[in-house]
This record gives sequence, C-alpha cells and structure tokens, in this order.
Amino acid sequence: MPIEPSAIHAARERIAGRVRRTPLGASRSLTERCGVPVALKLEHQQVTGSFKVRGATNAVLALSDEQKARGIVGVSTGNHGRGLAHAAKEAGVRCIICMSSLVPANKVEGIKALGAEVRIVGASQDEAQEVVDRLVADEGMTMLPPFDHPDIIAGQGTLGLEIVEDQPDVETVLVPLSGGGLIAGVALAVKSLRPSARIVGVSMERGAAMIQSLRAGAPVFVQEVATLADSLGGGIGLQNQHTFAMVRDLVDETVTLTEADIAEGIRHAYWHEMEIIEGSGAVGLGALVAGKVRPIGPTVVVLSGRNIDMTLHHRLISGDTVEV
Ligand SMILES: *Cc1c(COP(=O)(O)O)cnc(C)c1O
Repeated sequence: MPIEPSAIHAARERIAGRVRRTPLGASRSLTERCGVPVALKLEHQQVTGSFKVRGATNAVLALSDEQKARGIVGVSTGNHGRGLAHAAKEAGVRCIICMSSLVPANKVEGIKALGAEVRIVGASQDEAQEVVDRLVADEGMTMLPPFDHPDIIAGQGTLGLEIVEDQPDVETVLVPLSGGGLIAGVALAVKSLRPSARIVGVSMERGAAMIQSLRAGAPVFVQEVATLADSLGGGIGLQNQHTFAMVRDLVDETVTLTEADIAEGIRHAYWHEMEIIEGSGAVGLGALVAGKVRPIGPTVVVLSGRNIDMTLHHRLISGDTVEV
C-alpha cells in the first residue's frame, strides 16, 4: 500500500479544528426500504460543501515553509479547487486554480470567492494540467492533485475513521468514485478498524474512468462527458501512482448509475432526507434507490458534496427530466 493507516491518523491530528467532524445521521426511509440500518455520512455539511477540503488541508499543512512561500496550483472540476482555495487561504498561501470550461459557473464563482486565482483553460482536465505544469516549472509552485497524492488520500481517509467511530458495526459503505482518492482513503481507514466491512464504489455510466481502468487492468483514457454527477468527471491519469492500485486492492464492488438514477438520488435526498445534495454526492443514495447495491448489515452512505447549481436542483426536485 502506498499509504498506511497511520498516515490517516496523522492527517486527522493535523487537520483537527480546521475542518468539520461531520455527523452521521440515520435514514429512516432507507432503513425501512432496505431492511437494514442505513445511516448517512453528512459530508456535504463540510466547510466548502465537500470532503475535498480534508485532503487539501492535510496536503497544504504538510508542505515545507519554502513550498508554502511559493504557493500552490491545482486543476479542478470545482470541489477540489474550493478545498485548495480554502486550505491555502487559511494557511496564508498563494493559490492558482486551473479548470476546464465544462465546470459549472456556480463552482467557478465559489472558488474565486474563497480568494484563489482562477484560470479557465480548454475543455478537459488534461489541457488544464499543461498550464499547471508550466506554473510548477517556471514559478516553483507546488501542484496538489485532486486524488493521486498520499497526503490527499490520507486527508480524505479521516472521513472513514469518523464513520467507524460513529457506527462501529458498519458492514457496507457506499462511496462516490471518480479518481478514487476518497474511496481509497475511506477503504483503508474503515478496513483497518473493521476488516469485515464491504466498500462499494459508485460512479456514473457516462465516463467512469476508474471502473473502466479496473476492467482493463491498467489506467485507460476515458472521454470526459457532461453528467449530472459533474464532480465525478475526468480521467484517473495514465501515470496513476496510488489510487488505481488502492482501489483495485481495497474496494469490494463497483456499480454505475444512469443519469435517471442520479436524478433519483438527488430527489430522494431532498424529499426523504431533507438534504440538498449535488449529483456526485447523491450516487450512493441513487444506487440504493435503484436497487443496484444490496446492502448487507449496517450500511453507511457517504453524501460527499452539496455544490449543485440551485436552478438545476430546483428543476430536478420538481420532477423535470434534465439533459446536461
Ligand atoms: C471529488 C468528488 C468525488 C470523487 O472523489 P474521488 O477522490 O475523485 O474519487 C465525489 N463527490 C464529490 C462531491 C466530489 O467533489
């Protein structure tokens, strides 16, 4: 394993007091529907509205003084950018975020409001990455990637420690899956404390880069496509160093959702749980509602973020079929 459970415990101490320890709440409606206790990890209540600030804060605080003085750069579909911007501002570090033009306007504004500089470049994360590479080479800034970095994975893993603390008998954990930083950290944390627990990764059918890579046995290029789960877009990197192997070795099962399933997850969150959740954050709910995962034993669903365009959210919960 590229990281040990001890790295997650160290991350927890480093970020304590700087990110929220989010609550775990029982879902009465899913408990009735599934016939097992189902609880929701309310991580959309995290500062910046998603778990990404855990990894970002851990990674920024782990930099040397020299690195902090030169600043950080990142590529982001939105939530990672928000996390980096917040973490950098709190630590008094300069931050530039590069992103593709597919990123929704609410996310761009959110990042600017957190004090970071934003550069919009091209229609894919890979193109934005080239600009980042130049800033690293020319200005000595440090690039912090959204998932494939030990400090990022360890930071996301702190969420897994909290799950087992609050639900010690957990048997199934549903986790949104894109680049795999979240699920790798959560799986390592949960299994280190509760080896019998089953970790299930949930992605969208449109452009599930990690799942296609797992099937191929190595990281593959996957075309980025617009989806309601926009925070799950993007590749895993053909040179993936950490998350591909961790997901392959630690994740027990993966499932993919249609756009209609994702919309149902968002609707379920609102009408039954009274929570506003973005598409990517609602895929665990969507998987249970669609019957695509059979929950065995006490089950925890990670609600990973809430940063959705509110006009889109309003249309979805009103019953519209939305093509993105
Ligand atoms: C980034 C993100 C994910 C996926 O995390 P990975 O570490 O890339 O797998 C899931 N949900 C939300 C809300 C996100 O922002």
